[in-house]
Amino acid sequence: MFRSIQIKLILMVLLLILIAVQLIGVYFISTMKNSLTNSFTSNLNNQANLLTTFLSSLNLSADNKDETAQAATSAMLSALVNNFSLSGAEIQVLDAGGKVLATSNPSLQSYIGRKNTSLLVGRALQGVRDNEEEIIDEDNNRKKVIAKPVISNSKIIGAIYIVASMKELYKTMEGINRIFVSATLIALGLTAVLGVLLAGTITSPIKALTRQATAVAEGRFDERVPVFGKDEIGQLSVAFNDMTDRLSDALSINEEEKEKLASILSNMSDGVLATDELGKVIVTNRRARGMLGILELKDGTTLSEALGIEKEPIAETLEGKESSLLLNRELDEHEEELVFRVTLTPIRRRDKGVAGAIAVLQDVTEMEKLEQSRREFVANVSHELRTPLTTIKSYAEALDDGALEEPPLADRFVGVIRSETERMIRLVTDLLHLSRFDSRRNQLRRQKTDLTEMLEEVVDRFSFQLRQKAITVSVKVEKKQKTAWLDRDGIDQVLDNLVSNAIKYTLDGGTIDISAKSNEAGQLAIAIKDTGIGIPKKDLNRIFERFYRVDKARSRNMGGTGLGLSIAREIVRAHGGSIAIESEAGVGTVVTVLLPIVPEGSETA
Ligand code: ADP
Repeated sequence: MFRSIQIKLILMVLLLILIAVQLIGVYFISTMKNSLTNSFTSNLNNQANLLTTFLSSLNLSADNKDETAQAATSAMLSALVNNFSLSGAEIQVLDAGGKVLATSNPSLQSYIGRKNTSLLVGRALQGVRDNEEEIIDEDNNRKKVIAKPVISNSKIIGAIYIVASMKELYKTMEGINRIFVSATLIALGLTAVLGVLLAGTITSPIKALTRQATAVAEGRFDERVPVFGKDEIGQLSVAFNDMTDRLSDALSINEEEKEKLASILSNMSDGVLATDELGKVIVTNRRARGMLGILELKDGTTLSEALGIEKEPIAETLEGKESSLLLNRELDEHEEELVFRVTLTPIRRRDKGVAGAIAVLQDVTEMEKLEQSRREFVANVSHELRTPLTTIKSYAEALDDGALEEPPLADRFVGVIRSETERMIRLVTDLLHLSRFDSRRNQLRRQKTDLTEMLEEVVDRFSFQLRQKAITVSVKVEKKQKTAWLDRDGIDQVLDNLVSNAIKYTLDGGTIDISAKSNEAGQLAIAIKDTGIGIPKKDLNRIFERFYRVDKARSRNMGGTGLGLSIAREIVRAHGGSIAIESEAGVGTVVTVLLPIVPEGSETA
């Protein structure tokens, strides 16, 4: 309780007042006492002087006097001292020998005739004028004693001796003291009451500030300190309210930023893991957990454990180096392997150096696949070109080595060289087609096409081979779908590839049916059905891959490049359609091209 500022303030004020009152009191009372005592003494002295002047005209000595004269003198002195001692003092008149001639105290009448032996009297009779002293009698009363010589014609004829009680004076002093003490007590009491009220005006805003500070510390920003006036405490309250506002704003901005960051993190398509300076994972986003196949990370898991990689690259990142690595993950036995690119970046803090690391995981499976297929494609192209080139080279060498001298042999060799060259030209033309459709997918030059005319033209282009192999062809176009809005060159290429395949892989005397109709899904379906050798089931899903052939030797003999179906698929996809193949080994194959029917004039694929 004594720690409260209110009590301290009150005690301080009370002590100050007490000290002030004490000082004033001591000074005042001592001054008062001096002045009272002085006036008492001078009064007494005046009285004594008056009496001595009066007595000096009388003959105090008992010598040469008869008894009646003595008795008259004694009665006169008695009356005189009684009159003089109105103020209650005892007055004695003494003769030159110090014998008491008269006393004003009725109870001490027996003293008359006896000698007063007091020291003061002795000195007065020796002619010392001012003899004073203060005594304390047996009743503990202070008394002032004065003795003065009575001088007549320069001769000491006696003395007077006055004893005056100072009781009244001390009583007055005590009364004043009492008034002073009670005034002090009243002043202290009033000060205490006023102190409580006034200190309250200082301490209550401080208490309010304390409450508010506690509220802010606990995160409650809605309370405000009341502001009383413009004094220092008022200014402090205004400043405090201001601070609370700013703190609350700053906190809400901070929270907003945090939420933004959290929502960015959780909606990112990349996985993110952040660590502290020791490499322990502190933040992960949903995508990262999904990529790594973990539901929840245990506390204290390190980044290398979470990623399943060596500690070294992470230690290097925590030293300030950036790095990037590829991570292969097989989440499920049945699923294919995923490839992630992990980019490790240190988190730097202004004064702390490296405060952690961030690992960003990107799913690069598709990219890696593409890269892989590109590599394969280049390898395949090189291989496909090398085979005819090697053949050409060896036949040319053979001609050089003397085969030219034998015309029938030379003819055959030149024939091989020509056919191999033609094969290379076909291959290069196919590759050109592929790359053209790879690069300009959306740039179709659509035109209104009569379907019957288009399909019959395809058959016409192959009439020679068809006749050679005695293959029967039928073309059927549904009446309600006579025309379509197509890139004629592109679709011609598709049909050429498909019909040429149908001819190549159909034995002599087979049939090929070509039909066009619109299906229930609103698509144009062009089907090429043959009664050829068919495709084994295991090869069906790879048949559209570039350079894929069921029987390499056979295809090559037929002049195939292994690119026909993949070119067809590219073109159909550029039209926004799809291509499907159904086949049964030894029975036949149906290739169906589905194209969306787009309104005339439309450019969209
Ligand atoms: P190719 O130039 O070798 O014909 P394609 O890409 O056109 O290349 O065809 C790939 C492979 O698919 C062919 O080698 C062949 O084995 C098979 N194939 C394509 N069409 C047919 C079909 N109508 N009947 C049987 N097999 C076919």
